Amino acid sequence: MYKCKCCNHETLPVPPEDALGFICPICFWENDVFTTDDDEPSDENHGISLKRARKNYISHGICDPRLQCKDSTHLSTFAPVDKTLGDHMPFLVSLEENGDNELHIVLTASVLGENVPDMTDEFPAPVAEVVSQCRPILPGSRTIDIRFDNYILYQVRNESYASPDRTEVKHGKYLCVYAESKLLAYLETVTDVQRSEDGSTYPGPWRHYGIRTQNQIIDVVSHFEPMVTIKENESGESK
Ligand SMILES: [Zn+2]
Repeated sequence: MYKCKCCNHETLPVPPEDALGFICPICFWENDVFTTDDDEPSDENHGISLKRARKNYISHGICDPRLQCKDSTHLSTFAPVDKTLGDHMPFLVSLEENGDNELHIVLTASVLGENVPDMTDEFPAPVAEVVSQCRPILPGSRTIDIRFDNYILYQVRNESYASPDRTEVKHGKYLCVYAESKLLAYLETVTDVQRSEDGSTYPGPWRHYGIRTQNQIIDVVSHFEPMVTIKENESGESK
C-alpha cells in the first residue's frame, strides 16, 4: 500500500503517480496526478490545494469540510466495509482505549456453521425436524479493525436491553453513520460540543457512528473519521 498525500495513511493500492481518480477512504482527498506543487489548486478537489487539504484534515478529520454535511453520511470509511458484511452481523472481539483517548474496536464477521446433527433421539419428531434445518451463526475468519484517533463520547449497550430510536436517520446496516439520532440530540447536554447557528460545529464536524454486533450496540461520536481495515485470517479457520 502507498501513502495518501493528504492524510498520510496507507490507503493507495498503487503509487500516487498511477492512482488516477483514487479517493482516499480516510480523508476523501482525490489523488491528483496533474498538480505539480502542494500550493496549486486541485481541480479534482473543488479547487483546494494539497497544503490546504492537509490543514483541513488535521483540524476537521477530512480534506474538505464542505464534503461533510448532513447528506454525506455515505462518505465514510464505514460504508464500503458495511457492504462486505451482507447479512452477517459481526461479533465483538474487543474494545479498548489505547492511551490518549484513542478507541480501538475489533470485530469478526460471522459465518454460518454446519447443520446441527440428527436430534431425533433427543426431541419429539416435529421439533427435531425444525432443529435439523438450523445452522449456527459462528464468528468468522475475517477481522475488522476500527480505530478512532480521538472521540467525543462512546457507549456500549447490551443488545437485549437497547430500546429502538425512532428518530434515527442512518446509512448502513451493521456499521452505520447517523444523520439524526437521539444520541446526537443529547450530545450537547453532556459534553462541550457546540453547534453554531450557521451549522458549523465545535470541535470539528462530529458524527455519530453505530456498530451493531450479535450482543452489543456500540455508539461512538467522533470528529475524526475512523480508520477501518479488514484482515483475512490466512488459515481460513473460524476462531
Ligand atoms: Zn487520505
